[in-house]
Amino acid sequence: MRIVFLGAPGSGKGTQSSRLREHYQIPLIATGDILRAEIATGTPLGIKAKGYVNEGQLVPDDVILEMIEKRMAGKDAERGFILDGFPRSLPQAEGLQRIIDGLGKRLDAVLKLDVSKKVLLERMTSRRVCGSCGAVYNLSSSLAPSTAGRCDRCGAALVLRADDTDETVKKRLLVYEAATAPLIDYYDAQGLLVIIHGENSVEEVNEEIIRALESRAAGKKK
Ligand code: AMP
Repeated sequence: MRIVFLGAPGSGKGTQSSRLREHYQIPLIATGDILRAEIATGTPLGIKAKGYVNEGQLVPDDVILEMIEKRMAGKDAERGFILDGFPRSLPQAEGLQRIIDGLGKRLDAVLKLDVSKKVLLERMTSRRVCGSCGAVYNLSSSLAPSTAGRCDRCGAALVLRADDTDETVKKRLLVYEAATAPLIDYYDAQGLLVIIHGENSVEEVNEEIIRALESRAAGKKK
């Protein structure tokens, strides 16, 4: 299975893509997570990316495409992968197409999580992440931690992501509208787009996604 997750920041891509990873046992490639890890360890890529990420701007396409090409060449990605947060611009989508063609593969589906702007803003500013293991929580939903301010998994303190401040969140939504939203038409024209209503509970959204993927796979076998 080779899946792309599209959707505005805060639409639930991270939460749903990690569920799908468990379900299909294929690697999850989340460009935002890779960049944050590179920034935290101060690698040359991290140093290049830091300013863009903290400002809510896109890291240049060539930097991202090089990073993705390396990651997709990994042995574990042979059976399939889930892309979260990539592609985020038309040049990235075209770059992805070249990489996939080069591997002799095809995408199975592009999932677009539909969430209203009001809900996106609420979700992002109430998101907290574990400063140690990276687990993600949301203070205003069923994804709240069981002890306030502490990670359920490792007990470390929860923090606001550097780019989840009110001002940066608004910038990220504008960047999404300008650079990423055009990909909806791009993938629709290829017959790959699947729209999922993203405001239901985490479980319901997860079930809808799996139903949609299974019915596409069954349709292909016929
Ligand atoms: P995310 O965790 O997906 O919300 O990404 C956080 C930030 O990382 C974004 O606001 C961008 O600055 C950067 N980023 C992540 N993925 C990409 C990408 N595909 N292209 C450019 N920048 C990216």
